[in-house]
Amino acid sequence: MRTRRFYPSWLPPNPRERTELLRMRRKQHLVIAWMVGLIPGSWIIVLLAPDETVFVPFTLLWIAVGLWFAERLGATRCPRCGYDFCEKRELAYLSGLFNSRCENCGLSLGTMAD
Ligand SMILES: [Zn+2]
Repeated sequence: MRTRRFYPSWLPPNPRERTELLRMRRKQHLVIAWMVGLIPGSWIIVLLAPDETVFVPFTLLWIAVGLWFAERLGATRCPRCGYDFCEKRELAYLSGLFNSRCENCGLSLGTMAD
C-alpha cells in the first residue's frame, strides 16, 4: 500500500492538474445534462410512440447509461494525489456528480475561477 502524501488544500493546481480538473468538471456537467435530458427525451418518446413497450425500456436504458457515466466519473483519480477523487462513490454513484473536492488531499474544482 502506498503511503498517503499530504498536500495543503490551499495550494493552487499546477497546469496539468488544472487541465484534469477542467476535464472532470466538463464531464460532471455532461452527465448532469444527460440525466436532465431524460425529461425532454421521454416527452419526445411519448409523442412519437405513446405506448409503454417503448417508453419503459427507453427510460431504463437512459438511466442505466446515466449511472454508467456517473460511475465512470466517480472512478476518476485525483490529478494531484492519485487517490479516488470521490471516495463516497461506493455508497452513491451520483455523489461523483456533485463532488467538487478531493476527499484525500482537498484539491478542489472550485479553485479554478473561470
Ligand atoms: Zn487528491
